[in-house]
Order: sequence, then C-alpha cells, then structure tokens
Amino acid sequence: MNYLSTRGHADRKRFCEILLEGLAPDGGLYLPETYPQVDTATLAKWRTLPYNELAFEILSLYIDDIPAADLKAICAKTYTAEVFGTDEIVPLRELEDGVYLEALSNGPTLAFKDMAMQLLGNLFEYELARRGAELNILGATSGDTGSAAEYAMRGKKGVRVFMTSPDGRMSPFQQAQMFSLQDANIHNIAITGVFDDCQDIVKAVSNDLAFKRKYRIGTVNSINWARLLAQVVYYFAGYFQATASNDKPVSFTVPSGNFGNVCAGHVARMMGLPIQTLVVATNENDVLDEFFRTGVYRVRAAVDTHETSSPSMDISKASNFERFVFDLVGRDPAKLRQLFVDDLGLTGSFDLSADPAFKQAAERFGFRSGRSTHADRLAMIRDTEKRFATLIDPHTADGLKAAREQLTPGVPMVVLETALPIKFAATVVEALGEEPARPKKFEGIEALPKRVVQLPADAEAVKAYIAQHCD
Ligand SMILES: *Cc1c(COP(=O)(O)O)cnc(C)c1O
Repeated sequence: MNYLSTRGHADRKRFCEILLEGLAPDGGLYLPETYPQVDTATLAKWRTLPYNELAFEILSLYIDDIPAADLKAICAKTYTAEVFGTDEIVPLRELEDGVYLEALSNGPTLAFKDMAMQLLGNLFEYELARRGAELNILGATSGDTGSAAEYAMRGKKGVRVFMTSPDGRMSPFQQAQMFSLQDANIHNIAITGVFDDCQDIVKAVSNDLAFKRKYRIGTVNSINWARLLAQVVYYFAGYFQATASNDKPVSFTVPSGNFGNVCAGHVARMMGLPIQTLVVATNENDVLDEFFRTGVYRVRAAVDTHETSSPSMDISKASNFERFVFDLVGRDPAKLRQLFVDDLGLTGSFDLSADPAFKQAAERFGFRSGRSTHADRLAMIRDTEKRFATLIDPHTADGLKAAREQLTPGVPMVVLETALPIKFAATVVEALGEEPARPKKFEGIEALPKRVVQLPADAEAVKAYIAQHCD
C-alpha cells in the first residue's frame, strides 16, 4: 500500500514512513492511494473475530512494511480487556428501539482517543526500536488529547512526551489524570496562558527546523494517519454488533471536532462496510454543520470559537476535513489546492454550494449533520438518564441530539460514545444535580502528587526545557 498527499506531491510513501510524520512535504494530508475493498465473504469471516484480530485484519490491508506476526502481536498487546475494560473492547448497548451507544471510552483516560493512541504508542515503540531512533513528542492539549498521548507513551522506550497545557484551565480531573503520572519520559508543562498560546509554542518550535532535527521533535496530532486507521476498526466492530447479517445497513452519528473520528467512518464506508448515513454532530462551533448544510466551509477566528460544555469539539477549523474533501472533489489535487490553499488562504473560506461535487457529500458519501446547544445537551443528558437510566457525557449528548434528527425506520443508528461523564462532571451535575460515578482506578487521583512544571508562554523557554531533558 502506498500513500499520497492530498495536495499532489509526487512522492509515494509506505506506512512506516508516514507513521512518525505529520503533514506531507507540500502541506497536504496523507491518504492511501486506494481504499481496499471488503466483500461480503470477508465481512462474514470478520464478524466473529475478537477485536484485536479484527484490528489486525483491517490494519494489514494498509500496512505492508511490518511483518504480519509483529503486527498481530502489536494488536494483541494493545486491545486487551485489561486496558479497555471488556472483552468486546467497544461494547454496544441499546438505548431504545434502533438507537445504540457504542462505548469507545473505557480505555485508560476515559475518552475515545485511547482507541487510537494506545495503538500508536505500541507502533512508535516498535518502529523506533527497529530504527534505533528516538522521538520527542511535543504537543498542546486542552484535555483529552494530551492525557491519551501520555497514557499511551508512558514508559515506552525511545519516546519522550513534552505536553503543554494552559495553566489552571483544564478540569481538576483532567489535570489530575495527566499530572499524577510519575513516568520519567512524561513531561507536563503548564503554560501561563490559554490553549492558543500552547499551540503557538508548538508551531514555533516545529518551525525551528534546526531545533526540530537536533531534538527529533514529533507530534501525535489528529492528522496522523495511523490514528485515523485505528479508528476504522470500531466502525466494523459496531456494525457487527448492531446487525445479525452483513446485508443490513447501519448509520453512525459522530460527535465531531477535527473530523478525525468521522473521517474513519468515511474510510470504513469507502471500503464497503454497509454504512447508510454518517451524521456529523457539532456543538455551537458549527463549521462542519454549516458546510454539510450549505456547501460553504468558513473557518472561524480564535475569538469566534466558543468555549462550550463539550470542549473537545471546540474547534475553529477541522484539521482532517481536507481528507474527505479530497475524495469529494474526485481526488483532484489541483482542485483541492484551489480550495485549501488559494480560497482558504485568501478569504478564510471556500464555497462549493454551486459545485456538483457538493451534492455528492449527501448522495454518494452519505453525510448528514446536526448541531446542539448547551441547553440541548443538558436536556439530552436528563432525558437519557430518566428514560434509560444511562448517564452520558456532553459530547455523547451532542451526538444523540443529532442522531435523533436523522433516524430512518429499520436502520440501526449507532451513536459513538466519545467520553465518560466523569470527565465532564460539572456539566453532568448541572443537568442532574448529581456527581457521575467514578471508575475505581480514578478514586482520589486529585490528591496524588503532581509532576508538572510551570513555564511562561514563550517558545524559547520551552525549547530550553526540552534541551535540558533530552539526555
Ligand atoms: C477529540 C474528541 C472529539 C472530537 O473528535 P474528532 O476526531 O476531533 O472529530 C469528540 N469527543 C471527545 C470526548 C473528544 O475527546
């Protein structure tokens, strides 16, 4: 399998070459040259496989530069009941007739990012050992990504994590999750500033090419293809649980921010998984909902990005969206560049409303969208508790709200549960007046010793800290 850049660069790369990379050299995103097709005989074979073996089968179609036995061992080591809480790994539960929740948030940090990040940690360790190389991961987080990355990379040979976060701005639970890690290869850096300052620092350090090379700086952000690929697996696993045979369509609703999760659903659908509809759920930060309704993609300025009660979906632009648009415009890199380089670069938006391609988003690719407000989320949390005795988090509530608007009789609707309520306890308390249950392993974590340094919002200070901790 070869990978290409959405922006038309001539190079073709193999999986392990792009594993440790971010953007392609021309600023594009990597995609496989073709989507492997899965026929009904293959689906029938896969239906009964345990999750780790299903993951191996799907990954094998995209990875041909890791020996099969090694890849199989990596999948087996990653997707265990011990790490993810159940044998199913992503158990499905029915809320009411035809509406399901697929639990993606029973991993170490209680959000769906563990599904991909845990695999990434093992792939990184494997590939770095093979190359005899080291990697220093520099990241910025407002919560879920940073903790998922740290829990995936802790104790891994050849990897250090330097994770910046805005000082005092994460929830106490999120802070405790990250700062209580005592592993020597994990560095928490609390920046005096806001999340944007952290992101600016990461950008500034990454733009210093000499520093980047010398200290082997890498990232684990959501455009990483391996993360997206890992997420394809649970669409298959969800499909098999929601159906008794492989001729039945299923729809999915996905609480969305950077479009990574739902883009994995798009890939599963392109492979031939019988997905009828992919519903993109957004909160008040509705760039994606606006696109699917109108054909206009208009990125927001930082000041126009709302701080909401589903904060992991608070984005101003969706970093994985370019992957889907590449397919939407018939994989024409010139057209893609016109939209993402020329139009977005000049005006901050592009408009496909009059382009025949836009209609394809719904008709050929099955996309729909929805949007929720804070009041919607509270109502959804209350309703779900009252009628089904089930507690959901505000991101999953975004999803359930959008899902209810797109139901088709006879077609199961699977809503992806992207976090557990305990991670966003304040909103759950606001909705229900009670604190959500806390898994045993997280009891009392706020009282544990914290391992974190405070640094000013200054890239030079962060560089100096990295240099000091790299020997
Ligand atoms: C990251 C995240 C999302 C958004 O996922 P994308 O892949 O960025 O679209 C939704 N919910 C939760 C809880 C998250 O952590």
